[in-house]
Amino acid sequence: MQKQWLQEKWKKLLEHLWNLRSLKVRLFVLILVVGTIPSILMCNVIVSNYEERSVGLRVNTVQNQLKILANHLIYYNYLESSTSETINAELEMLSNLYDGRVQIVGGNFKVVKDTYGLSQGKIMISEGVIRCFNGESTSNYLPDLGYIEMTTPITEKVIELTPQGEKETTVVRGVMLTSISNESIVSTREVLERNAIILQGVMLVFIIGLALVLAEFLTRPFEKITQSIRGVKEGHVDKMVAVPDYSETVHIVDAFNQLLGRMKMLDESRQEFVSNVSHELKTPLTSMKVLSDALLSNPDTPAEIYREFMEDIGAEIDRENQIINDLLALVKMDKTAADLNVSAVNMNELTELILKRLRPLARKRDVEVLFESFRTVIADVDEVKMTLIISNLVDNAIKYNKEHGLVKISLNADHQFFTIEVQDTGIGIPEDDLAQIYERFYRVDKSHAREVAGTGLGLAITRNAVLMHKGTITVSSKVGEGTIFVVKIPLTHIVG
Ligand code: ADP
Repeated sequence: MQKQWLQEKWKKLLEHLWNLRSLKVRLFVLILVVGTIPSILMCNVIVSNYEERSVGLRVNTVQNQLKILANHLIYYNYLESSTSETINAELEMLSNLYDGRVQIVGGNFKVVKDTYGLSQGKIMISEGVIRCFNGESTSNYLPDLGYIEMTTPITEKVIELTPQGEKETTVVRGVMLTSISNESIVSTREVLERNAIILQGVMLVFIIGLALVLAEFLTRPFEKITQSIRGVKEGHVDKMVAVPDYSETVHIVDAFNQLLGRMKMLDESRQEFVSNVSHELKTPLTSMKVLSDALLSNPDTPAEIYREFMEDIGAEIDRENQIINDLLALVKMDKTAADLNVSAVNMNELTELILKRLRPLARKRDVEVLFESFRTVIADVDEVKMTLIISNLVDNAIKYNKEHGLVKISLNADHQFFTIEVQDTGIGIPEDDLAQIYERFYRVDKSHAREVAGTGLGLAITRNAVLMHKGTITVSSKVGEGTIFVVKIPLTHIVG
């Protein structure tokens, strides 16, 4: 079981590693790099520092001993005769101690003593030796050759008689040229390097482990989000569970839940719309069915009743037709919200034309229609949609009016907007209904509305058309006194 889990984890990790766009992989790589680079640098600095310091210390120690030896050389006059047993023993001991070679160069650059016995009696002139004869000790680390080379002046203090009195001066009598092995330093460095590699290996394993755990841990909230979205997608839940680990995840979940809420609302309103449409389409059909059934079941129906029923059926067909036309207009408007067919339209002429069409209806209902125009208004509008707006409002003002009623249409404009006001002396709209009149299929008083032909879609269409023109529509009404609709639209069309 454990083995299988590990195998799965390993497979998942390898899959992830190929995917550099994954946040988990990026975190893993970041932690790995941030964790390993300093440790590698630290180990390297420690090792190279060790070598530098060890060489410096070794040079100091040896130089001090060589200085003491240089005094002994002067004391035993070794540069003149190199026979002193004591000095020879000291030189031998020094070269053994540091696994090196000491050469004593006399004033004439002649090698007086070489612990290796190779250059004795030969002339030794090198840059280091010459600089040393000028009183300067030198040291030179040659790691590739495996030794440290140094020169030490053999000095003697001499008292000179000058006209000013006695003066003590230091004279360089010879030079000690010493090379010592760096083997012990190198071997210690190698041990250190080996330890450093082991340490780095252990740290690398630790950092990889840490990076894996942290990458997994830090990205877990995003996995929770994915799981939650999957749950919503599969329909187990209708809301995402909270993931309060980071403020970012809280924002994602909030935004997603808001989106879900909106989608739910849209879905509900779509369902409601479909059921309203079905209901509204069914009503005239039911009436027609009842009327035709009545006629069929009674073959002796008098001709005038027959005619009346047939007229009713015709009216229901008209109503059905009207609903379908209105629905089509509404759906078309939803679909083509972006593309208005805008042109410069003379609003006065357009209104006159619409009123001419509606006046017969007004006359039939004994309603007077007045048009008041304050100036000539030319506006960038969609003529067809503008016609829908005006005719719907005036049609309502006539339909929901009283006998001998009045409908007054006013057209005015300022430098930015034009306004159409449709005022009637009709039945009015109760305050509670005012907010809903623009909803699809909403009719204020269903029983009364039945007497007046209508679909409940006119104002929904009107409002849509106004909004498409980036305009506003407002209503104020008093039951029994009348209603005023005011439409305000920009004279120049605003795109976007
Ligand atoms: P309808 O086809 O029923 O006229 P509308 O969407 O045009 O549909 O209007 C919705 C409802 O608002 C109407 O049924 C009516 O009750 C009310 N209404 C609209 N205009 C007026 C008005 N001028 N006076 C009184 N009531 C109105």
